[in-house]
Amino acid sequence: MTDVLPPVAKSFHTLCKKCEVERYHKVLTHTSATSAKIECEVCHSKKTYTIPKAGSSMAKKATTKSKTGVVKPRAKKNSHADEYGALMLNRGAEKGTPFSIKTKFKNDEKIEHGKFGPGFVKAVQPDRVDVMFSDEVKTLMHNKV
Ligand SMILES: [Zn+2]
Repeated sequence: MTDVLPPVAKSFHTLCKKCEVERYHKVLTHTSATSAKIECEVCHSKKTYTIPKAGSSMAKKATTKSKTGVVKPRAKKNSHADEYGALMLNRGAEKGTPFSIKTKFKNDEKIEHGKFGPGFVKAVQPDRVDVMFSDEVKTLMHNKV
């Protein structure tokens, strides 16, 4: 196997994808130490020829294999994200009530918090509400006059 490019203006035999057979290709120019612009002598299609590196394709395959082999365990931690994701999926387009500690919120109400973003009321107490935001449930004051 050769690891040197054929010289410019010389022809060598390699597969032409357009002709779908091996054709003589003329080297037009070297684009790097390992690749060259070549032209099929039959159909005149131009392409970049790169010297195949021994072992590189094998290494790539091995990397892909190890990546696909990894299965993420389903952690309990995800349940919050799952619930919030489901709420956003169903009610993401709903207009939330802008959050203010002066407003009295109802259970299951969607709110829009200036800092935490969209949230859903999970529990209501006279002066506090538990609101589910994307990262956690926060207890906020409300109904303050
Ligand atoms: Zn060709």
